[in-house]
Amino acid sequence: MISVAEAASIIQKHVYSFSTVYAPLEDSTGHVLAEKITADRDFPPFDRVMMDGIAVAFDDANSSKGVFAITGLITAGTKKKILNSEEACEIMTGAVLPEGLDTVIPYEDVQIEENNGNKVAKIDINHINKGQNIHPQASDVKKGEVIIQPGTLISPAEIAILATVGKSTVKIAKPLPVAIISTGDELVDVSQIPEPHQIRKSNSYALSSTLKQLGCNADQYHLIDDKPVIKERIAKLLTDYDVLILSGGVSKGKKDFVPEVLEELKVEKLFHRVKQRPGKPFWFGKSENGTLVFAFPGNPVSTFLCFQKYFKPWLNKCRGLVVPEQFARLADDFNFKPQLTYFLSVKVVNRQGVLSAEPLPGGGSGDLANLTRVDGFLELPEDKDHFVAGESYPYVPFRKGVS
Ligand code: AMP
Ligand code: MG
Repeated sequence: MISVAEAASIIQKHVYSFSTVYAPLEDSTGHVLAEKITADRDFPPFDRVMMDGIAVAFDDANSSKGVFAITGLITAGTKKKILNSEEACEIMTGAVLPEGLDTVIPYEDVQIEENNGNKVAKIDINHINKGQNIHPQASDVKKGEVIIQPGTLISPAEIAILATVGKSTVKIAKPLPVAIISTGDELVDVSQIPEPHQIRKSNSYALSSTLKQLGCNADQYHLIDDKPVIKERIAKLLTDYDVLILSGGVSKGKKDFVPEVLEELKVEKLFHRVKQRPGKPFWFGKSENGTLVFAFPGNPVSTFLCFQKYFKPWLNKCRGLVVPEQFARLADDFNFKPQLTYFLSVKVVNRQGVLSAEPLPGGGSGDLANLTRVDGFLELPEDKDHFVAGESYPYVPFRKGVS
């Protein structure tokens, strides 16, 4: 049996190289950018007016004693105009500053009077700064500059940039060809009514949902606990996919055929069993053609934890994403005696900038209902059995958008 750190390190060494694919802009959120994004124009592309008001030439403000005849109206989307410096115009947010003028005075600071259709603006010149309320051309980014590097996770902020530079399709890391395989005679599908001795399979759906959040569309399979069937089906899946995620059938039960089948199929065992709870029977290996096999124990919390602790960081590394390890502080004392790393289910609250983790251990590795009450797992090391409130430990979050 190996330690959690050894298991993580073995997995991280087996890096998968992603190929690339083009995706529509609208579908690229959550994927990893595989191209360099440069500015096709200056940001902003013209001297952009930032407030609704009056555009004037600052140097004329003194000589005109703050009184300007308004000669027109310029709105957003109007081509650039050329005005004389003695002229002033009404101008709207998003409009191109006309040549000849350099300063915008918001309506709040100006009085506009109208006589026989002629408009005159009177301003308090003491409050004007030259160039005010103008967002100067190229002041944010110059044409040709790199704005987003490859290897960036595409979030709504990146989507805005990609749209601005005209990327209707985006080169991304190709979604991983992955199969999720649940095993067990007791499992029925979500649409079925289970007999009293059966349960609906949930692991494959939980895994598929998490993979979707990570930009992967996985295919789902189910295998009964029959060795020849498992062998035949896994042999085929090993040739069809680059990664297999199995749940169940890796413990010491009489029908836990997965490890022996994998070894008979010449999938090299890189480890089996990790000094942890939940998830101790975790099996990891690599087939002759390079397919990686993550075989998680079937208990729902075990599968869930193993995915979050091992698979997700592995996927992030392969996608070129650097995700710093998080830490949280125990909110209450907690005891755990066995010489195993314990992944304690916790509810986290951000207290004045510090993540505070309240232990909610629930009913063990089969208690999937408890997952709905918690936010992640606190990784309590195997060399201690008494953990004191206030101590800080690595935190494995699983709720998107929370932490
Ligand atoms: P196993 O690892 O196959 O011994 O399964 C351990 C426990 O997890 C058993 O109670 C199984 O019924 C349960 N289990 C296995 N696979 C799933 C699944 N896909 N969804 C929900 N529970 C499962
Ligand atoms: Mg089973």
